[in-house]
Amino acid sequence: MKINQASFVMSNQDVKKCPNSNIPEYAFIGRSNVGKSSLINMLTGRKSLAKTSGKPGKTQLINHFLINKEWHLVDLPGYGYAKVSKSSKAKFQKFITNYFLQRRQLVTGFVLVDIRHEPQKIDTEFMEWLGENGIPFSIIFTKADKLKDSQIEKNVEQYRQVLLDGVWEEFPPYFVTSATKSTGRDEVLAYINEINKS
Ligand code: GDP
Repeated sequence: MKINQASFVMSNQDVKKCPNSNIPEYAFIGRSNVGKSSLINMLTGRKSLAKTSGKPGKTQLINHFLINKEWHLVDLPGYGYAKVSKSSKAKFQKFITNYFLQRRQLVTGFVLVDIRHEPQKIDTEFMEWLGENGIPFSIIFTKADKLKDSQIEKNVEQYRQVLLDGVWEEFPPYFVTSATKSTGRDEVLAYINEINKS
């Protein structure tokens, strides 16, 4: 898919205030510093469409961008556990879970994880939560330029093991990407394009 147009639509913290249209949307989420802004800028071919984050105190917002006047790219804030959780069960920030539970325009989520790290509990618990709630998602491994191909394969395999040892029967679709080398760009965009056309 060629990106001819990419424009900012709005930011807010309330799913009810998100654009009221029937445009299909794709949401990108992951822990802070995972490389989400860099990936969004790489995918859209815009240098600073998504502001690179990681700055403490940055307002947590749901950011909508309109791509090719056809679909919304949604830049979600880095997730974390909500502090109120009394049970041992993971609970994520309410406005993020509300977004996933209530946003009928959402086609699929992309959960970003840094390819260099072993599977982290907060990421696998978030994926588990998505699964329990029937929300489709794919995994985007980021920063692949930092590892050799053989190590990339090993780390993806480790992820597969952890997910399949948990609640999953199938490994979700996944993409290996690098924002610095534009790796995986065509694959992610083709995936979105394919769903949009179907
Ligand atoms: P965000 O907080 O998830 O939006 O992450 P950023 O996009 O701001 O990136 C966090 C840090 O990782 C920055 O220092 C980026 O330069 C770096 N980074 C992001 N993507 C890549 C990548 O694909 N390769 C490498 N080597 N560094 C990356």
